[in-house]
Amino acid sequence: MRRMFPLVLALALSAPAAADTLVVYSERKEPLLTPILEAWTAQTGVQVHLLTDQAQVLVERLAAEGERTRADVLVTVDAGNLWLATERGVLAPLRSETLDAVVPAAFRDPDGHWYAITERARVIVRSTERVPAAELSTYEDLADPKWQGRLCLRSSRKVYNQSLVAMLIDRHGEERTEQIVRGWVGNLAAPPFADDTLVVNAIAAGQCDVGIVNTYYYGRLARDRPDLPVAVFWPNQAEGESGVHVNVTGAGLVRHSRQPELARRFIEWLLSEAAQRQFADIDYEFAVRPGVEPNAAVAAWGGFRADDRNIAQAGRRQAQAVRLMDRAGYR
Ligand code: FE
Repeated sequence: MRRMFPLVLALALSAPAAADTLVVYSERKEPLLTPILEAWTAQTGVQVHLLTDQAQVLVERLAAEGERTRADVLVTVDAGNLWLATERGVLAPLRSETLDAVVPAAFRDPDGHWYAITERARVIVRSTERVPAAELSTYEDLADPKWQGRLCLRSSRKVYNQSLVAMLIDRHGEERTEQIVRGWVGNLAAPPFADDTLVVNAIAAGQCDVGIVNTYYYGRLARDRPDLPVAVFWPNQAEGESGVHVNVTGAGLVRHSRQPELARRFIEWLLSEAAQRQFADIDYEFAVRPGVEPNAAVAAWGGFRADDRNIAQAGRRQAQAVRLMDRAGYR
């Protein structure tokens, strides 16, 4: 019998993607995407080749590959990254009435270059032993001297914090935002941490009392340790305040995709009720599609109002935010 394997391998490496294969470049971690891709393949018969890397690497790769790319869809976390990909010209606007109807205006590029596929809330977390919820109110209030020596933050190099500060600039202007960020820095209990998990753990260990993290980091820790002495606080909920800072994971059509129709169908499917249900259950994130309720563990933290300012601003003001954080001494 002839051995087929080398032939198949050679084809996979050199030939353009077959019509029944979709190529997805993704910054989203594989275990958080694979079950959803498998469901798509089961339903449509279309295979998905997944290439995962950091967003900037993928964007530069797409720019370098240009018309030769095999990629059809780019998936990345954070609107800042999606904005960057749009600016770099590697995405094409997607015209989809389905997507425009399903994805709230705050969570998509106004020109259709990308659409949110999950929402991720960046919230205040508090020590349940040392901070009653009534003591907390807003992100801005964490600059108040009453939190001196009690605040833990993740590094300003993380795009999540760049986006949060960018949205503060969008709302308050540079001067007031710089005061807020200086206040945060003055209140730090420890140098900024490398990730959100360390922030939650530092609160649990008594190193600090409050912090700012994405809820799914908290959710994973609380799942593994039900007695975790840390709770979610939904900030900025009072009348006239911004609401919770909500960022996204999003998807866009690669400009030089050879199968834009299939790519569009795939992204529409990511926003379908079934896929959205899976996203909501897979890692304590929030569905984008209205009516898809959070996972029970997430729902137990209570409801909240999200900021409805267009999250694309987080990208537009990202460089400004980075410079501001630098001036304010936020490392
Ligand atoms: Fe994350």
